[in-house]
Amino acid sequence: MIREFLRNASQHRSRPVFLALAGMLASFIAAPQVFADEPYARSRDYDLQHSKIVLRFDLDQKKVLGDVTHSLSILRDGTAKIVFDSAGLTIQKVTVNKATAKFETTAEKLIVPLAAEAKTGDKFEITIRYEGKPAKGMYFILPDKDYPDRPSQIWTQGESEDTHYYLPTYDYPNDRLTTETILTVPASWITVSNGKLMSVTDAGKGLKAWYWKESIPSSTYLITVVAGEFDEVKESWHGIPVTYYAPKGRGDRLPMNYGRTPAMIELFSKKFGVDYPWEKYAQVMVDDFVAGGMENSSATTNTSTSLVHPKLAPEYFTGEDDLISHELGHQWFGDLVTCKDWGDIWLNEGFATFLEAVWTETHFGKDQADYERWTNAREWFGSNNLWNKPIVRHDFDDSSEFDGNAYGKGGWILYMLRHQIGEDAFYRGIKHYLEVNRGKNVVTADLAKAIEETAHINVDQFFSQWLYGAGAPKFDLSYAYDSEKHQVMLAVKQVQKIEGRVGLFRVPVEVEITTASGPKLYNVTVSKDKQTFPLPAESAPLMVLFEKGGHLLKSTEFHKEKKEWLYQLKNAADLADRADAAVALGTMKNDEEVVAALGETLRNDKAWGVRATAADTLGKLDGSSASKLLLAALDSHDGPWVRSRVVSALGNFKDEAAVAAKLDAIAKQDDSYRARAAALQALGRLKGPKTFETLDAAVAGDSPDGFLRNAALRALGSLGDDKAVPVLLQWSAAGKPIDSRTAAINSLGRMQKDNKDITKQIGAYLVEPHFPVRMAAIYALGGRGDVSAIPALEALLKSDDLSIEMAPMIKGQIARLKKPADGKPGANPGAGDADEDSSESAAGEKLTTEQRLEKLEHLLQEMSERLKSMEKRLPPPKQ
Ligand SMILES: [Zn+2]
Repeated sequence: MIREFLRNASQHRSRPVFLALAGMLASFIAAPQVFADEPYARSRDYDLQHSKIVLRFDLDQKKVLGDVTHSLSILRDGTAKIVFDSAGLTIQKVTVNKATAKFETTAEKLIVPLAAEAKTGDKFEITIRYEGKPAKGMYFILPDKDYPDRPSQIWTQGESEDTHYYLPTYDYPNDRLTTETILTVPASWITVSNGKLMSVTDAGKGLKAWYWKESIPSSTYLITVVAGEFDEVKESWHGIPVTYYAPKGRGDRLPMNYGRTPAMIELFSKKFGVDYPWEKYAQVMVDDFVAGGMENSSATTNTSTSLVHPKLAPEYFTGEDDLISHELGHQWFGDLVTCKDWGDIWLNEGFATFLEAVWTETHFGKDQADYERWTNAREWFGSNNLWNKPIVRHDFDDSSEFDGNAYGKGGWILYMLRHQIGEDAFYRGIKHYLEVNRGKNVVTADLAKAIEETAHINVDQFFSQWLYGAGAPKFDLSYAYDSEKHQVMLAVKQVQKIEGRVGLFRVPVEVEITTASGPKLYNVTVSKDKQTFPLPAESAPLMVLFEKGGHLLKSTEFHKEKKEWLYQLKNAADLADRADAAVALGTMKNDEEVVAALGETLRNDKAWGVRATAADTLGKLDGSSASKLLLAALDSHDGPWVRSRVVSALGNFKDEAAVAAKLDAIAKQDDSYRARAAALQALGRLKGPKTFETLDAAVAGDSPDGFLRNAALRALGSLGDDKAVPVLLQWSAAGKPIDSRTAAINSLGRMQKDNKDITKQIGAYLVEPHFPVRMAAIYALGGRGDVSAIPALEALLKSDDLSIEMAPMIKGQIARLKKPADGKPGANPGAGDADEDSSESAAGEKLTTEQRLEKLEHLLQEMSERLKSMEKRLPPPKQ
């Protein structure tokens, strides 16, 4: 899954901002138990083998009316009752082998006593008739008075343990079953569920019954039901249907955003040596989705914000491919082979994240994959709440198991494993792992075993430090050249704090030494806290690269002179080494040589990620020469992914009339919508005298999906001019596009913080049915600091229709309001916070909240890291 619960609340479509915000938000959420998933797999009394799920819907009441028949086999002698998970559902009737049976219910269970104790292998058919208004698990997105034209959609989200809110069943991953799903819906609707579509028949009264059959067993959290008014596009891969669905009216956006799916299926099938395993592959995009994407077996559900407007889509370097490849990768890793319990969730999420990179390197090239990996590492090191937690763990009371370790670090570990044992050995192991475990539940040891059995490489030490241990190596590096011995004496220290599960690392490292006669590569193994490696060098080196190319999850502080960084910036072959140099040079202020070199990189580096990183650094270096180079770069018409970064960097130069004028011009007219949006935001931060007029005009203007309007609404929050209140109230109101509303609500929260009427107005949005609006209101109130909002938030907490992610968010914001003194203001989704607090970034720089947001936005937006990152709960500020 991609947990991207906030993405829908975003004012603009860029998911990365979201992610940044979610990370920051996560850090404000109080620690107490917020995720109630069971850490260990249950012991089972029965094996659920098949479920026939017959559903109808009461749209007015937003109710599900169900008849489910479970076929199960007893696993334990003496079993006297069958216990299903069931929450909030009214059970009307239960039959056991067709005879009416007694039953009991508790808040979370349906208990069916058996007439006599059963024996191992006994088979039962249990039918349950029920109805309910699901608090979560199943969601009804329907037209209402404010949005009379929105397409109707019903969709489910099972992971982690939410299926039993709409279906009484066994709700834990360590059981697998086949399904039939029969969905009766209005005749104009279509449905999508697991497996093959067997028939669509007339059900009378303007209804049709859709019959889906899944013949390959998978876990109940992977069951999906989607129904509503959708457009469909059909393709195929080797005779297997590949279909995409968009909410009605947006079907024209499917090919552009989703059309590379068959090529991804082909790539993964070849790489793994195991063909795509399901009978079809559907991707359904739904509105107000509570996650970014969810890999239901054979039928992924994704957020409709991935249906990027055709005029905006070309402005994103990798499009939606990270999301699409992630969820597709899960069809093997997660669905065909499933983690036994949530403690091994990295076997799902780490693989899916790694496979994004596999697609990226194949389709977009090495530089793009290198850049994303480099960015991921920096993010992970910024997430200090992840540092001392091993990947494989069962103590996730204080945080979600769906964290940046399972995703970002998990993906990195698979990358390192492939790099260290070689592509061939790696994929032989993967093929074996999939073949041996297909249709089964796995633990981490199964992966190690599969690799050893095929590649005959012992990976115990690798698994021990990276998966069962925590942290990662942090290196302090320096060297001296011995001109008599013709040696570089490379001094390596591991400086991570050794405590808890964090130990010293033993890692292979490639060191490249470049002298006047060219580069030479040496392999060393670092294993101690302090080591010195003598390495031959004919003459004093021009460049020493520790761990060339960035193939190891690590952080480094390499004590180099300016001229070495400048040489590295210009000459290093790999992106990671040049990008490192571009960052390192950011500490050298007031140095014209540094500014000039970064300017040259911004113009000429072959990789856009390095060009954009150079722009970021120039934005941090004061002085008119830096701003001149950034302004000049705007004439080069680089891609929107670089151009928007240059524009944002210019937003750091206060008091430069030429900068403000240029930003104003770009905001009004440019080939790139992203650059225009970045200019609006930068103007808001610069707070120039005429900014309100520019932003106000942008709100009134038109652009694809209101992209510029939403940027301007956000920027009004940064600007903080009271004149904006009426326009923000106008765009917050029901009936306006949801994206614009969330942007306006966020900014409104930052206006006239002592104005109780505004607080009250935002509080009124808490009870709206629209998930993103609620989210925006919750955070706007939390950031506003007005304690009069606490009762409304507490009342919301008691309501029974909160989606799974919402309660902890509300608690976090209440905690913020109660303790404003020590709380850094959190981020309102999509908007920076006006308060000029400061904290440290991942890279250790002192940043204001505003800059921090901007920085995260850059990192995230540009790396196209997208949904998965959301799940990572990104770099929280150090507190
Ligand atoms: Zn996932």
